[in-house]
Amino acid sequence: MSLRIGIAGGSVGGLFAAVLLARQGHDVTVMERARHGLARRGAGLVVQEQVLRILRQVGLEALAEQGVWAEERIALDRAGRIVSREARRQMQMSWDSLYDGFRRLLPAPQYLTGATVRTAAANADAARVTLDDGRTLAFDLLIGADGQASITRDAVNAAAPSHPAYAGYVAWRGLIPEREMPAAAAQVLFDRMAFHLGPGSHALGYLVPGADGQTAPGERRYNWVWYRPLGAEVLRELLGQARHAGALSLGPGELPQALRDTLVADAQAKLPPPFAAAVAAEAQPFVQPIYDYESARMVNGRMVLLGDAAFIARPHTAMGVAKAAGDAMTLASMLARLPLDEALAAYEQARLPQGRAVVDYGRRLGHSLAMPGA
Ligand SMILES: Cc1cc2nc3c(=O)[nH]c(=O)nc-3n(C[C@H](O)[C@H](O)[C@H](O)COP(=O)(O)OP(=O)(O)OC[C@H]3O[C@@H](n4cnc5c(N)ncnc54)[C@H](O)[C@@H]3O)c2cc1C
Repeated sequence: MSLRIGIAGGSVGGLFAAVLLARQGHDVTVMERARHGLARRGAGLVVQEQVLRILRQVGLEALAEQGVWAEERIALDRAGRIVSREARRQMQMSWDSLYDGFRRLLPAPQYLTGATVRTAAANADAARVTLDDGRTLAFDLLIGADGQASITRDAVNAAAPSHPAYAGYVAWRGLIPEREMPAAAAQVLFDRMAFHLGPGSHALGYLVPGADGQTAPGERRYNWVWYRPLGAEVLRELLGQARHAGALSLGPGELPQALRDTLVADAQAKLPPPFAAAVAAEAQPFVQPIYDYESARMVNGRMVLLGDAAFIARPHTAMGVAKAAGDAMTLASMLARLPLDEALAAYEQARLPQGRAVVDYGRRLGHSLAMPGA
């Protein structure tokens, strides 16, 4: 039976589900808030098994071969000396190539941009959303793939709504065209995963593909991440600067200049010189607060949660995309084999324990890095 399926959120989680379900003959509509889609906004990701599986399912496996390799892992001390070294090859594929690849598989009219879901509701037979332009759309099934600050999760967990719990630290992040990296820093940091662990501080960095998926030397970008504690009150004030009300993070350009200057000064004082130089080279750092979130339910009537809307795992796990892929493949496979209500129950039964396990793994990794909130 062909269903009318609405998907709130058109990032990779929503797109994974949209493409798989459209191929099964369902009438799929993705509603994405971003006015111009999400192209050129991502960085890199590790190709986990589930990402490879979904790429194979849709014939995009060649994308998994295109990425930027790190040849080894090094740890730096505060002075910038290499204190440990391990040969370990790891590839970062382009998030943008993944997004673009799946987006191209979906006919344009099925992907609405500038479509913010304001309200979502479902009962045992149908689901309904209102968009911020006033339109109401009705579906047989609504998939909430609206990420960390999901509004659909409250509708699915209406009996006991819960919210992401701030872990007490943030990831300050930067993404710099490799040509803009100071030469001395590039010499130490490029072509490897580099780490520095200090008191209440964990920095890491690696090369990722360019904004259009380029992997050639000279066209890549350097991605650095600096985990540091930040008080909940300070964070609340900071998030007041975000473009979207209720946002859980700050994107490039949203951080006040004075705070960027403080970050650069702190990096000089606390990080090995190559990392401090990388922080200083980023004109528009962004802030990703670290949250834990476990949805008590993934299904309520004709509404289901998928990806970060259902479970937020700390980024140390590097499993956000893989988890969304696992959710989408399981949902599609259950819907292909079972009557709708049974399929949704089977989906929840399969994916709740997986989501909980990944969130728990993230907490343990945070704890092992001596970060707060573990
Ligand atoms: C622009 C972008 C770039 C990213 N880059 C990377 C990366 O380089 N590497 C990596 O590992 N992970 C990246 N991620 C995160 C990664 O995609 C997620 O951690 C994971 O894949 C789960 O995906 P998701 O689709 O569930 O959630 P998300 O990727 O967070 O997507 C949620 C989507 O829902 C949309 N949305 C939110 N609220 C509404 C609403 N009310 N109505 C309509 N739409 C709404 C958002 O605009 C967003 O597109 C990125 C996410 C985004 C949005």
